[in-house]
Amino acid sequence: MSIDCFPIVRPHFCRHSRGKAMVSPKPAIFLDRDGTLVRDRGYTYRIEDFAWVTGAPEAIRKFHEAGFAIFVVTNQGGIGLGMFTEQDMHRFHSHLCIEAEKNGARITDIAFCMHHPNAIIPGHQTPCACRKPKPGMILGLASKWQIDLEQSILIGDKQSDVDAGVAAGCHTYRFDGDDLDALARKVLSIHC
Ligand SMILES: [Mg+2]
Ligand SMILES: [Zn+2]
Repeated sequence: MSIDCFPIVRPHFCRHSRGKAMVSPKPAIFLDRDGTLVRDRGYTYRIEDFAWVTGAPEAIRKFHEAGFAIFVVTNQGGIGLGMFTEQDMHRFHSHLCIEAEKNGARITDIAFCMHHPNAIIPGHQTPCACRKPKPGMILGLASKWQIDLEQSILIGDKQSDVDAGVAAGCHTYRFDGDDLDALARKVLSIHC
């Protein structure tokens, strides 16, 4: 299992794989985390609270097999609010990546925003460039991994996800929270 987490490398990236950056611009899927990939229990960070949204493992495997790089872009303002630590979040993300690999998929990278309008941790207040609906996390990942945003797709369960994807120049899909695999089939039928 090649799961590593280097939170110190760059402040807003958690690199979970040892893969090299891709040479030519490549399409990607940008996925929201809470309510899209994993059940949203409200500031989720405990591994014992980890549960996939229905169809999520099948969806990311399909995207992976179709040749998309898979990224997670997640607002984690609970860090700024002092509800959990950045290290707690990295542990949860390592678990998420391991569970994805068990299902035949690979999450290339995760970008997170730890800012919040009501942050109590110094330096974690908004405004920032990364909290969705801002596109900073998507733009940062695209630059880091040489992603072609015009060919890329964002999926999230909130309007702020969609707004971030539009601002980044991606195709966007609002997920209704029901079955991510059904949405993945639709997305792949349109874009592949
Ligand atoms: Mg969400
Ligand atoms: Zn931020």
